[in-house]
Amino acid sequence: KHRWAMYIDVSKCYGCYACVAACAAENNVPIGVFRTWIERHVTKGGTVIFVPKQCNHCENAPCVKACPTGATYKRTEDGLVLVNDDLCIGCGACIQACPYGARFFNPVKGVVDKCTFCEHRIYQGKLPACVETCPTGARVFGDLNDPESPVSQLVKKMPTSRLKEWTGAEPMIFYRDLPSEADL
Ligand code: SF4
Ligand code: SF4
Ligand code: SF4
Ligand code: SF4
Repeated sequence: KHRWAMYIDVSKCYGCYACVAACAAENNVPIGVFRTWIERHVTKGGTVIFVPKQCNHCENAPCVKACPTGATYKRTEDGLVLVNDDLCIGCGACIQACPYGARFFNPVKGVVDKCTFCEHRIYQGKLPACVETCPTGARVFGDLNDPESPVSQLVKKMPTSRLKEWTGAEPMIFYRDLPSEADL
């Protein structure tokens, strides 16, 4: 069993948007909607920071509970939260339920869409497109169930935080150097 997760070092992101472009190209994301995006914040000390965001593949995902058809589900064998396009009726309940604004209606596919952690790539032994493209190594991807995986090592060694812990969603994206201003 895998537990796919991402570690994002905010101090290494300089807002180049290469990951956003790579994600759009890899996943045919239409213009105007995003599976990942970069938020710009100014810290209390006046420093400009960039925070990459996307679906957190939450352990306790509110979107899964909200979906009336079972189209949105959490896969037991690897923890990925995915959408079955054939079952999605486009009701938007999951978009409302997601505390992270990670979901959107894909006008080309006619269903709800979001980050899949590049599921089609990771089982070919490749990294997610956003991770592979990042020029600074701000994004690290791997399997938390594999103690040797860089993501496991970093989450163990480094102090990290997750977005909106108070929701109880239990995100699988672990941020390094995330200022409180960015936890919105
Ligand atoms: Fe669902 Fe949103 Fe969590 Fe992704 S971030 S699993 S869309 S609740
Ligand atoms: Fe489920 Fe689709 Fe409705 Fe979202 S839009 S809650 S995936 S049926
Ligand atoms: Fe996009 Fe894949 Fe990165 Fe998710 S993991 S944001 S789908 S490139
Ligand atoms: Fe930040 Fe890397 Fe994305 Fe550039 S590619 S915006 S440095 S996470």
